[in-house]
Amino acid sequence: MVLRMSRQTQIPGMREQVIETCTELKLRPPFEAIDLLLRMTKARNYVIEVAPHPMIGHTVSGFVHPFRDGVFIIYYQHDAPKVLLEYIIYHELAHIWLKHVTPESVKVLRDGTFVTLTSPQQERDADEWARYMTAYAQIMTGCELAERLHATGVQRFSRYGKMLSHFEV
Ligand SMILES: [Zn+2]
Repeated sequence: MVLRMSRQTQIPGMREQVIETCTELKLRPPFEAIDLLLRMTKARNYVIEVAPHPMIGHTVSGFVHPFRDGVFIIYYQHDAPKVLLEYIIYHELAHIWLKHVTPESVKVLRDGTFVTLTSPQQERDADEWARYMTAYAQIMTGCELAERLHATGVQRFSRYGKMLSHFEV
C-alpha cells in the first residue's frame, strides 16, 4: 500500500495574505494607505482615487465606486481622524484587491448613493484585511490600533473597535 501524501495546501490566514500582498508589492512598513494605493494601481493597472464625502445619512464611513474603464473612487468620511481614514482606505482597497468589487460590479442605489453590493462575508474579510494592514503598515499591535480607533470617538466605528480588541498582530 502506498501512502500518498495529501496535497493539501493550507489556505493562508488573513495576516499572511496581508504580508504576502505587501511583499508582492515591495512595500515594507512603515507605510501609509496612499503608498499601498499607488502600488496597487500599478500592479492591477487601475486608477484608484480618493475623495472626501460628508456621509450624511450614510451608515458607513467609506465606500468605493468602480467604473467600467478600471477607475475606482474611494469615498471617505471627510472629518475622519487620520487613523480612521487610513483604516477606511484599507477597507476599500481590500474590496478592490480581493476582487469583491471589480469594474464590472453592478451598482445599486442605497442611502441616496449608488454603491456596489458586497456580502457580509466580504465585509468581514475586508475588515480583517484592513485591521491587519493598518496595524502592519504602522508597526503596531492590534490592541494599539483598537485603542487608537476608540480614541477617535467615531461612534460609527465602535463596532470595529470592539472587534479589534480581540485581535493581535
Ligand atoms: Zn466594505
